Amino acid sequence: MKISEGEFKERENDDVLSKGLELLEYYEKGPWPSHVTEIRKTKYPIEVYASGLGKGESQWYGGSAKIRYVYVGFISRRSKDGKQTELHFRVFHPSGQFYTTEALGKLLDFADKYGLGLIETTGQTGGMIISMDADLADEAVDVLRSIGTDIGDTGDTFRDFASCVGPALCEYAMYDSLAARDYYLAYPPIYENLSNQQFPFKVKLKFSACPMDCARAAHRADFAFIGMWDGAPDVDQDLLRKKEEEGELKIHHLVEECPSGAITWDEERKKIEISAGKCQKSMNCIRRAFPAIKPGKDRKVALLAGGNIKGRFGPKMAKPVAILDDYRQAGDFIMKIIEIWEEKSPHKERIGDMLFKEGFGKVIDGVKDTLPTNLQGIPVGQTRIINSAVLNDAERRMYSEWARRITDEYGGD
Ligand code: SF4
Repeated sequence: MKISEGEFKERENDDVLSKGLELLEYYEKGPWPSHVTEIRKTKYPIEVYASGLGKGESQWYGGSAKIRYVYVGFISRRSKDGKQTELHFRVFHPSGQFYTTEALGKLLDFADKYGLGLIETTGQTGGMIISMDADLADEAVDVLRSIGTDIGDTGDTFRDFASCVGPALCEYAMYDSLAARDYYLAYPPIYENLSNQQFPFKVKLKFSACPMDCARAAHRADFAFIGMWDGAPDVDQDLLRKKEEEGELKIHHLVEECPSGAITWDEERKKIEISAGKCQKSMNCIRRAFPAIKPGKDRKVALLAGGNIKGRFGPKMAKPVAILDDYRQAGDFIMKIIEIWEEKSPHKERIGDMLFKEGFGKVIDGVKDTLPTNLQGIPVGQTRIINSAVLNDAERRMYSEWARRITDEYGGD
């Protein structure tokens, strides 16, 4: 018997759904916790998820929504069968993603009342309240603000600023990356722009309290703040020898692994020497020998600019701009670079692409008045942090060759 196109589609959809439902049951078997079991406890439209699994592709299309006075921070979509719509809220994390139980409880109550009761708090780019009730969205934004956070972190504006756990948990922290993030989120010219989109693309600030860069600031941030120290690391020679005697480390490994050859072993005096001038702050000797080797006591913050993973000219590491005594010294610099970026860049061009195109040194030198003058005698744009120290020679040659070709093509310097 011949069946109509509509009936055929319906049967096909039924088959896809049954296959997806079987998969959901499968995901609930076994001794481990199941995300499906957890989702079933909420109001999430589990059939849409099942259809997606059955078909092997998302069952959602992009959508749109309107919220009073808010232009960023929400993501809307609709199911392909037209039966479901979703409106997710992106919300700002607390610094270091430390939630007090009280704050988390309030967020959960909020998600229960205005959404499906599902939240996601692990991403670096803000938390997510899943599937809000679109009719209550205006009211929900006000409630969210009253519990101490805000909607934001999407669109062409400042995104959520990530910081590492900093001094709260880490012995290497060289400045308070949590306080620094709070400072810049509340910095008036930045705060005023959090809910609007008026830049060519997104802007990210990230804060890592040591050069190991747990916030991945150098790779991903338009403006990166990385804790460091001036001079050579501090060495407790007795403790270092003891560690070697006890088989915890081999001092000659520290010498061999130093990427800049800053460490030498004095056989006669049985101690290591570290050249302050050569040390590139890679942290290798410190993390291997801590606390026998520690960061130096004169703590600083390195300011870098122009990092991104996805940009017009490909991924880029941020480049060093200045060594600051205090993280608060970069506000004017950031806003000035943004001003130039707005003038020079087309839509969807990141700050790193603009710096690349216009010439990093040229742009940074043009705004150096926005930075303090006491930059440790280090010229702007020529600071001594080599954040490509992790690359081997062949990789470094490959990237510089690639960069040269693109620069030639686009005429920068
Ligand atoms: S921090 Fe890195 S560059 Fe500096 S001395 Fe130690 S291993 Fe060498």
